[in-house]
Amino acid sequence: MEYSILADSFEKMESTRKRLELTQMLVELFEKTPQEVISKIVYLIQGKLRPDFEGIELGVAEKLAIRAVSKSSGIAIKKIEDEYTKGGDLGHAAAVILEQKTQTTFLVENITVERVYETLFKIAKLEGSRSQDMKIKYISSLLNDANPLEASFILKILLGTLRLGIAENTVMDALAIAYSGNKENRKLLQNAYNVSSDLGKVAETIALEGIQGIEKFKVNLFNPIRPMLADRVKSEKEVIEKMGEEFAIEYKLDGERVQLHIEGDKIELFSRSLEKISSYYPDIIEKIPKMVKAEDAIMEAEIVAINENTGDFLPFQELMHRRRKYKIEKAVSEYPITVNFFDVLYCNGKDCTDLNYIERRRKLENIVQENEFAKFIPMTLAKNENEIEEFFENSINAGSEGLMLKMLDKPYQAGSRGSHWLKLKREYRNELGDSLDLVVVGGFFGKGRRTGSYGTLLLSTYDENTDTFPSICKVGTGFTDESLDQLYQILSPKTTIKKNPRINSEMDADVWFEPELVIEIVASEITLSPIHKVARDEIRKDTGLALRFPKFTGKIRVEKMAEDASTDDEVISLYKGQNKAAHDKNLI
Ligand code: ATP
Repeated sequence: MEYSILADSFEKMESTRKRLELTQMLVELFEKTPQEVISKIVYLIQGKLRPDFEGIELGVAEKLAIRAVSKSSGIAIKKIEDEYTKGGDLGHAAAVILEQKTQTTFLVENITVERVYETLFKIAKLEGSRSQDMKIKYISSLLNDANPLEASFILKILLGTLRLGIAENTVMDALAIAYSGNKENRKLLQNAYNVSSDLGKVAETIALEGIQGIEKFKVNLFNPIRPMLADRVKSEKEVIEKMGEEFAIEYKLDGERVQLHIEGDKIELFSRSLEKISSYYPDIIEKIPKMVKAEDAIMEAEIVAINENTGDFLPFQELMHRRRKYKIEKAVSEYPITVNFFDVLYCNGKDCTDLNYIERRRKLENIVQENEFAKFIPMTLAKNENEIEEFFENSINAGSEGLMLKMLDKPYQAGSRGSHWLKLKREYRNELGDSLDLVVVGGFFGKGRRTGSYGTLLLSTYDENTDTFPSICKVGTGFTDESLDQLYQILSPKTTIKKNPRINSEMDADVWFEPELVIEIVASEITLSPIHKVARDEIRKDTGLALRFPKFTGKIRVEKMAEDASTDDEVISLYKGQNKAAHDKNLI
């Protein structure tokens, strides 16, 4: 398939944000796509090469891309940098530069989607000392044969700046229309995606086998399932209103969620955002398969750091010590953990997601052999507020952050946040009503004791509608010397020459970061703001929302991607909730 077809579609898609138009453009693109290329097209649309859980990252830095453009065009690096800083992104700058070049070159060979994809794949796999030079060689050879428009999109994919604003749902709508003629079949595609987390595979299946193939889609070992999530509630009373007569309550442990895929001795661990995390937990890899009394299983658990002497749960950030590549054995012995199981999704070759909560819990208790290292999350059945209150107190005293409440007769709904699971956290009773998970987008250099680190950070929410990161506050409190140091280590490799176009902020930070890192923040209230961009024009014209007295809680949410951060809609609902509470108080 000629790559120019894809590049032309990308150009059209960039010119609109309207979901219906994007769907139509995708349908047209899919209709021109041969079946054997469809999965590649679906990954490339999302700026990826494979599903996230395979961990294949292009990871090309701006500087390297600029060198490749220079090599291919013969134009000096400085000139390319100047063009880049003038405006637009690097893809656009390269198109302008290469436009000048093609006026003097006549040898342009058509490039195919397959060639672009294979080359990008090779680049992603390169490692070792000579990898930089090899990357430049591969990129410039592609650029040599690309026209300026094609080149600009190759660079955008390489740099991770391709932003077509196409949500997964839109891709599924278009696949349903293109391959079954009926948008309603989207629901079936959604199920297939929820159990496989692989949109390329879903696309290939419907292209090759039609809707029948999609209906047969099954849970597969070592292919992570999109996690079921919970709605938040603020009080025991709300729980009773929403949960009905009798329900299960479990401790909400403050650790890292893990999905364990086990077959005999083989085991793989996936995080909440479905990344492979097995290398951080060699103790789980070694011990857990021996404790499972089943041929194979997919289970969910919360990994929690513990105090070895007392057995008490320790806060989430203790697990951060495990996030290292080297000397992991040392971290394993210094920072012990327990694995606390709460669900089973697959067992002995059978999908368990259709079983109800009680059946799954029973099965779970039958297949895991409990001991000091592997436990079941404490659970009880409850009917009224007093029972919830009592279990809540116990859970807090044991060092957990609250309760999870689960309906007894409901299946495991992969990939959905709904009312079948609720969460009641301790923080929900604090000033703002909740903590927020925000994306670090900019930094300001510290003074005094904080010299050499970022003393203050600029934070954003995630706006799902525009796929951007609007700023919400600057935060400079809540940091310890250790956390400042740790944040500097994580953030400094993420600095960019220019602000990523997805960051929506009027502030001038000292440095800009790729919007990737998520941290947890508490604040005293949400106020109207003329500067910040969250919910701009939603409550009042030319005004956004901001956090008052924000404070870092110490939690770096490594398991969350930037797109999992708190959204504008959540901030608006907290803002409205807070105003309602203030109003109610005045009435008393
Ligand atoms: P949060 O920011 O509250 O951790 P989240 O967005 O990560 O929320 P939610 O579905 O809202 O995910 O909350 C559930 C999270 O709580 C899970 O992702 C898991 O890590 C954790 N957890 C702790 N105990 C349990 C439990 N008993 N059952 C399910 N999840 C639990």
